[in-house]
Amino acid sequence: MRKNIVAGNWKMNANANAASELIKNLKKSDFSETTEVIIAPSYTNLAIANELITGSSIELSSQNMHESDRGAFTGEVSAEMLKSVGVTYVILGHSERRAIYKESSELLKSKVDQALKNDLKPIFCVGEELKDRKDENHFKVVKNQLSESLFHLSSEQMKNIVLAYEPVWAIGTGETASPEQAQEMHAYIRKLLSDQFSSEIANGISILYGGSVKPGNAKDIFANKDVDGGLIGGAALKAEDFTAIINSFE
Ligand code: 13P
Repeated sequence: MRKNIVAGNWKMNANANAASELIKNLKKSDFSETTEVIIAPSYTNLAIANELITGSSIELSSQNMHESDRGAFTGEVSAEMLKSVGVTYVILGHSERRAIYKESSELLKSKVDQALKNDLKPIFCVGEELKDRKDENHFKVVKNQLSESLFHLSSEQMKNIVLAYEPVWAIGTGETASPEQAQEMHAYIRKLLSDQFSSEIANGISILYGGSVKPGNAKDIFANKDVDGGLIGGAALKAEDFTAIINSFE
């Protein structure tokens, strides 16, 4: 059985005080035990978050990572640094990194390799832009993103990947993919994984949906058989909303 996961991508929000407050409130919340809960605060808040989540089941993720071990890369953060502050997951390939910071599939492939080499589990994001969907290219775009950055991995390595399907047109827009659109793409991704690796691998990988997930729509999205949880942006910044989303599995 694959895991249900709800991850909060805080993006560039919450200073140290706000992050502490949010985590303290999350710790007081009543989560379903069967769902893995991950938070991804900014780099500056990871060490604080690591202290505060001690004794809870919350896991820590970073939002990005550099592909090299160390060196003259001003402003960058390595896998080893992340591990030293209790990080276990790393979000890679978020559409904001791809679009704003021009991260290519080739670069993301190196980051995936670097994360796995350091025992960090990538939450690897894929998703089409609105134009791709209008042109009916959405399956092709997602297939290319997966194959270019992940299909060189061995089955053993692939077991450590969590996938997130985030249609770019649904991020921060209030517009969600319909539960049917989400299920259709998740099933397609699982079929690709089955063809490339094996049905055992495909059935073991959690595929999260991201894009305007809120307490009001999470239940309908998570009810789909190939949707194993969510990668949450805006609604992860309020403990009450994030908890409601975590508790939205049937
Ligand atoms: P929103 O939930 O704010 O649409 O953001 C989704 C997202 O990009 C999570 O990574």
